[in-house]
Amino acid sequence: MTTQTPSKTARSEALFARARAVTPGGVNSPVRAFKSVGGTPRFIREAHGAYLTDADGERFVDYIGSWGPMILGHNHPAVREAVADALQFGTSFGAPGEREVELAELVTRLTGAGKVRFTSSGTEATMSALRVARGFTDRKLIVKFRGNYHGHADGLLVEAGSGLMTNLDGPLGESAPSSAGVPPEYAALTLVSEYNDPAALDTLMAERGPEVAAVIFEPVVGNAGVLIPTPEFLAALHRVQNGGALLIADEVMTGFRLSLSGATGLLGLRPDLSCWGKIIGGGLPVGAYGGRSDVMDFVSPQGPVYQAGTLSGNPLAMAAGLATLRTLETDPGVYGRLETYTSRLADGLKSLAAETGVPISVNRIGSMLTPFFQDVPHGSVRNYAQAARSDTQAFGAWFRELLSRGIYWAPSQFESIFVSAAHTDAELNATLEAARAAFADLNSPRLSAHEGVSP
Ligand SMILES: *Cc1c(COP(=O)(O)O)cnc(C)c1O
Repeated sequence: MTTQTPSKTARSEALFARARAVTPGGVNSPVRAFKSVGGTPRFIREAHGAYLTDADGERFVDYIGSWGPMILGHNHPAVREAVADALQFGTSFGAPGEREVELAELVTRLTGAGKVRFTSSGTEATMSALRVARGFTDRKLIVKFRGNYHGHADGLLVEAGSGLMTNLDGPLGESAPSSAGVPPEYAALTLVSEYNDPAALDTLMAERGPEVAAVIFEPVVGNAGVLIPTPEFLAALHRVQNGGALLIADEVMTGFRLSLSGATGLLGLRPDLSCWGKIIGGGLPVGAYGGRSDVMDFVSPQGPVYQAGTLSGNPLAMAAGLATLRTLETDPGVYGRLETYTSRLADGLKSLAAETGVPISVNRIGSMLTPFFQDVPHGSVRNYAQAARSDTQAFGAWFRELLSRGIYWAPSQFESIFVSAAHTDAELNATLEAARAAFADLNSPRLSAHEGVSP
């Protein structure tokens, strides 16, 4: 960290100390604490376009995009103006309003879902979708995949990815809770299979299929690093529908990111239900679940499955979501530009790593990308176990070097980065320049001698 001086993080350090005194670990969501990469988490003061500015006034090219929502870039004028406009009329009604109807019409039109229900987070969306699936099928079990993350509801904190990507070493089928506080009795209702392993899923469904209410999956995994599904695996997922289990695509990360109709549109999926979050709220707290009308009609007050929310359909959040999705829809070139930028970033990282002799294996699809620090061919990391073989020490050192050079990469080996429409050639060149130096430093004795992950 050649350019790093204490004064550059003084305010973040002071805020982090204050935060730790009043908040567990000093953060309101675990990965923000930089625990797996070391160093001081930067407290962010403002964000515009492709950039974050921290409390010490340092500016960074941002590749987190608030973990997905900011596909248009930060503080996009259309979103800001829509929220400001909505703000004049009050912040919450506790009664239905026009914007909820408009966003539901837009989401159903873009995704092909019959009906949709808004929540305030992705976690609420997946949790509720599972309850509906259980209510509709009158079955108890669900199936998820090792290293997939679906938010922090009890039954989904089983072999989960994202901030929980450690120690997932138990035998498959054993449903080990990923978190203290999840009763094993809850975890036992969640069966776990291996991502991209069609035979394992077929076997599990042959044994337990009649008890399975739903199979929930990330159609492209972002929460174990980026993992791309094989066509054979997608075919096996669709086979579960033959036995009456519902297929639930968790598009909280991929929805409206991989295409206007999400991974579902891009990969030709036919889920019974889907879950959304992140982009659908344009940076405000929104989640949603929806799909087949006959299934969604089980939701209260139409049907017997209860689900509610004081702030669900909040007018400011609906305004931000509407502005984001409308902007995406009226700029059909946006996904092509994201693709071009991110594929050039991937190619650049591959050749810089090769030049400097640092082994990485890049997975990329659309504007999602992970460089796994391990010596296997690009594109060959297909599941949690393979992702977990990465050199997280090397990743951490690389991350800290990038940060010291003004590039804010995702602070974990097991996350995707997110490119936004505000990233241009200038940011791409700055990123590759910093990456070149970070790869080179990775092989220098100075770094390996002095830089470890700090406690
Ligand atoms: C982020 C995420 C969630 C959880 O959404 P929150 O809004 O953080 O509760 C669920 N599923 C996937 C795939 C996600 O990426």
